Amino acid sequence: MRLSLTDKCNLRCTYCMPAEGLEWLSKQAVMTGEEIVRIVGIGVHLLGVRELRLTGGEPLVRADLVDIIGALRQAHPELPISMTTNGVGLDRKATALKAAGLTRINVSLDSLHEETFTKLTRRPFLDRVLAGVDAAWAAGLGPVKLNAVLMRGINDTESPSLLAWALERGYELRFIEQMPLDADHGWTRRNMITAAEIRELLSGEFVLSPDPRARDGAPAERFEVRRRTASSGDPHGPVLGTVGIIASVTEPFCSDCRRTRITAEGKIMSCLFSREEFDLLGLLRQGASDEQLAERWQDAMWLKPKAHGMDHVGLDAPDFVQPDRSMSAIGG
Ligand code: SAM
Ligand code: SF4
Repeated sequence: MRLSLTDKCNLRCTYCMPAEGLEWLSKQAVMTGEEIVRIVGIGVHLLGVRELRLTGGEPLVRADLVDIIGALRQAHPELPISMTTNGVGLDRKATALKAAGLTRINVSLDSLHEETFTKLTRRPFLDRVLAGVDAAWAAGLGPVKLNAVLMRGINDTESPSLLAWALERGYELRFIEQMPLDADHGWTRRNMITAAEIRELLSGEFVLSPDPRARDGAPAERFEVRRRTASSGDPHGPVLGTVGIIASVTEPFCSDCRRTRITAEGKIMSCLFSREEFDLLGLLRQGASDEQLAERWQDAMWLKPKAHGMDHVGLDAPDFVQPDRSMSAIGG
């Protein structure tokens, strides 16, 4: 289950948010900590949710984040609870998050070059993100996973050095294909960097071989990484770590997808690309029982689309018809 804690964010990644930000939800519209705990409880106890990922917007901008995680942990001592964050301010909060019961963390990091980072996120915060990644590791929030979106002509050629950097530190880097979920509607099928290109970009320095562990519904296809030696790319060298590629557009995994999403204002989305949303929070606030809420949730999930259809968009076809919400407003 992916649950968004807020639609607000302190970065403006070009593939997600417009420079001027979005019109934020009002405080009353967003789920309270108590409502979140109740909704997660229904997911776990009545619908078989086995893993929770907190996301946003930027979860760290939510003032009661540590309390929410503490309450979730108290209610579900064994539930794996992870969080996806841009890492800004994580250096100050990592220890408290761990103590409250957060299991693990994913940090988004698209570039190690200050200028490129600032161009992509429209904020000069690279140092703060790097401090956040280190602090998360030191606080015991590992294995730390890093998410990178490659943008043509901006950070695509940096991909091998980003991978080398992550491998040296024991972080698992995952490249995510850019999806048509930017508020600026700038995505085009022709211009996005595909998984095939990512493998090609990495192949100059690294040899990738399929990770023998089962994928088990995970969005990332994992590869073991070895350094390419002189000419042939010695396939027997030591494994330096793994890299993941999330090829949502060109190699979709819809038929294996087991995710359910709750937006910050308590709407159920059965898919990132759903055009239908179901208001769970409204029903909860009207006094519905846990069983009624579970039923609404289940009904919504039965309508999960079979596939998103993006991979059928021809290179020269008009752009995929984007959902109205941006990634930040869904909860990526
Ligand atoms: N603010 C947090 C962060 O950036 O990690 C959490 C929310 S963010 C929407 C979650 C993930 O979605 C990030 O790793 C981000 O890179 C990714 N993302 C955002 N827009 C995307 C897009 N259009 N295509 C692919 N990934 C995207
Ligand atoms: Fe904010 Fe995350 Fe979207 Fe970047 S990807 S603008 S950090 S929500």
